Amino acid sequence: MTCIRLKGQTEPIAVGKIVCIGRNYLDHIRELGNPVPEEPVLFIKPATSILPEGGSIRIPEISNDCHHELELAVLIGKKAVRIRPGEAMDHVAGYGVAIDLTLRDVQQRLKEKGLPWEIAKGFDTACPLSDFVPASEVADPGNLELRLWVNAEMRQSGNTAQMMRPVAEVISEMSRFFTLEPGDVVLTGTPAGVSAIRSGDKLKGLIEGVGMLNVQVE
Ligand code: ZN
Repeated sequence: MTCIRLKGQTEPIAVGKIVCIGRNYLDHIRELGNPVPEEPVLFIKPATSILPEGGSIRIPEISNDCHHELELAVLIGKKAVRIRPGEAMDHVAGYGVAIDLTLRDVQQRLKEKGLPWEIAKGFDTACPLSDFVPASEVADPGNLELRLWVNAEMRQSGNTAQMMRPVAEVISEMSRFFTLEPGDVVLTGTPAGVSAIRSGDKLKGLIEGVGMLNVQVE
């Protein structure tokens, strides 16, 4: 069982699944040359892909192009089934810092063949994840600065205000198809600046008012 921690709570929380939205920041859609989706692109990373603070990323040998995607992570605290955006925030227990690692070359090959791209997103260590802070400590999840450094170089910089679908809409949309349960984690998409990481790289993710995440590549 893979667990995460919520600040102020002594018991660790078991994670069920990680539900993610792709293409939620316009500048990131443009940098990859993807069309703006009419329907949200949703996918799931298994809980076993979580890598805690300080951990080492293991890039599968089949890839030469593993990308970092810094994302605001949302911890679900209350079961959500087909909820409206107006109700969504009542289901949020906390916020954290996540990196949605993506084997871009593998994903591209599979997409071209019309095959599912789980391997590219769900491999072991594909989801570095920080501890969570209680939702009550984050005044406005729709206005948070996000930054990611690889070694000393800043690669990603954005603000959650740039999301095409804000957190409440993302949760509502996901709950149309997937029951969200306490301990599930929602990833909300990445701003521009994704790039490849290599052996020995040190990654630092920061979301202002939420926290920091440090991991390295094995
Ligand atoms: Zn992502």
